[in-house]
Amino acid sequence: MPTWNRRPKHGQIKPGELVPVADRIRWVLGWRAILGVAVLVVWWFSDQAHGTDRAWIGWAVAWPVVTTLSLLASRAGRRVARSALTLSLLGDGVLLGTANWAMPDQHDAMGFLIFLHAMAVTLLASFRTGVRIAIWHCVITVLFVDAINLGMLADTSPNVSGATLWLQFAALWLAVLSTAAFAAKNERELRRRRHDADLLRQFGLGVTSAPDPASVAAALAEFGYAELPAHRVVVVAHVGGATEHDEPQRLGATIENGRLTVLNRLGPDSEPGRHSVIRRAIASGPQLVRGVDPRTDPWLAGMLPGARNVVVLPFAVDQIAGAMVVEVRRRRLERRVVETALQAAMHASVAMDRILLTEHIRRTAETDALTRVANRKRFDEAFAVELGRSAAEGTDLALTLVDIDHFKKLNDTFGHLTGDEVLRLVATVIREAVDTTDLVARYGGEEFAVIMPGRDAVAALAVAERIRLRIGALETVTAVSASLGVATCPAHGTDAAGLINSADAALYESKRNGRDQVTFASAEPDREPSEMAR
Ligand code: GH3
Ligand code: MG
Ligand code: MG
Repeated sequence: MPTWNRRPKHGQIKPGELVPVADRIRWVLGWRAILGVAVLVVWWFSDQAHGTDRAWIGWAVAWPVVTTLSLLASRAGRRVARSALTLSLLGDGVLLGTANWAMPDQHDAMGFLIFLHAMAVTLLASFRTGVRIAIWHCVITVLFVDAINLGMLADTSPNVSGATLWLQFAALWLAVLSTAAFAAKNERELRRRRHDADLLRQFGLGVTSAPDPASVAAALAEFGYAELPAHRVVVVAHVGGATEHDEPQRLGATIENGRLTVLNRLGPDSEPGRHSVIRRAIASGPQLVRGVDPRTDPWLAGMLPGARNVVVLPFAVDQIAGAMVVEVRRRRLERRVVETALQAAMHASVAMDRILLTEHIRRTAETDALTRVANRKRFDEAFAVELGRSAAEGTDLALTLVDIDHFKKLNDTFGHLTGDEVLRLVATVIREAVDTTDLVARYGGEEFAVIMPGRDAVAALAVAERIRLRIGALETVTAVSASLGVATCPAHGTDAAGLINSADAALYESKRNGRDQVTFASAEPDREPSEMAR
């Protein structure tokens, strides 16, 4: 299972997580302060405020203050915070119910405040809490009516009939339930958006660690297959080609019946034609088509034979252009789902581009700018690796050093630019004279080194001689020749310095003996470490 897919599904996201309970407490506190003021205003206009000490007026002021303590509860964990919020809302109900009873001439105003309270809780706390509070208001009202009927409380509302009361209840419920329905719908939408954001974050993280563009294409195909959802998916991308040294390539991935196939190197037939739906999508955004037309998209039609209801989601960034082509299961697709998949495709193209860029930087850091062979840094690293492998596996390893003869004279006679051109040509012929398993590096000014894994003395000498002959055959402004020295591991040393010394001593022998020749190192290097090895 891809890493980006390890996240809760819609139903597992807890509603409380959508808006933190601490935020809800703060909003409700703000609303309660307004409510307290509103109750005081109603009291101000009331002629019949009931009760001897009017303690409830004190509560209208004190209750919003007391409930600010619920802010502390929000620090004590979610459960405590939720309980504090619920308790404070129940208290609101008691306060409003009492005020309603105590100011019989203000029934309408108080009824309106109770109504507003239930609506505000539905919107600010949650639609579930809103419904519970509506029930609570009804219970309190019924309790007051019962208490009055039983003579426990003074009858302050001789004019309110049972029918009016039921009508008020009905209005309250209608408002709360319709608000709750809208709130629930909004909450679901919010939860889905958050789900999408989570999904994209996971996908983005997942493709960041992908080793190559084809793996990114595979991850994108898996995303499309799971999230749209799809019968079949084809991802195709054109990558690279921005610099002369980056070969452009086409790659992709497909999923059919849950089976993923990575398409590493696609042929030129996968190139979308002028009227291809892929080109159309890249130019003008996602396309929803009934099927793939074999006349405009022969390759794609071959990948998705008989496809119905196809969505083409393009991506293009810098060195990357391509599309995720999805045969969807449902004819009707939610816009949100398409947008999420489109964003995933963009994430994927950015990830592919980043991989190319990193690869380009790595190659540049290891390549000699003039001759395009490995530079000294790469030589040192590769030589250490090969020496380690040779020691561990007991395999042969040879090193050849190449030094152009009388190069200073060539520079002096024909100029440094010609000298540079000769260096480039020499590097090219050395590369052509060796195998891909050998590593050619520019060791210093006009000196090259060739690491030859798996070659014994005979094989290494044969390659060195080939290099010498090819350099000698170069057609340039003047005749060019080179002197070479060959050393092998372990005969001439088992570490880098020992082998370089031996090969260098052999090269020096070639120079001393008249240049333009190959010398095999003697068993013991017979002189001090030379210029090169130091
Ligand atoms: P020998 O046959 O003994 O090797 O003689 P040489 O002239 O080749 O040897 P020396 O080491 O005296 O000269 C090497 C010359 O290579 C000196 C330097 O100017 C030249 N050189 C080094 N790097 C470059 C380069 O990048 N471009 C050019 N054009 N010349 C370079
Ligand atoms: Mg030299
Ligand atoms: Mg030289």
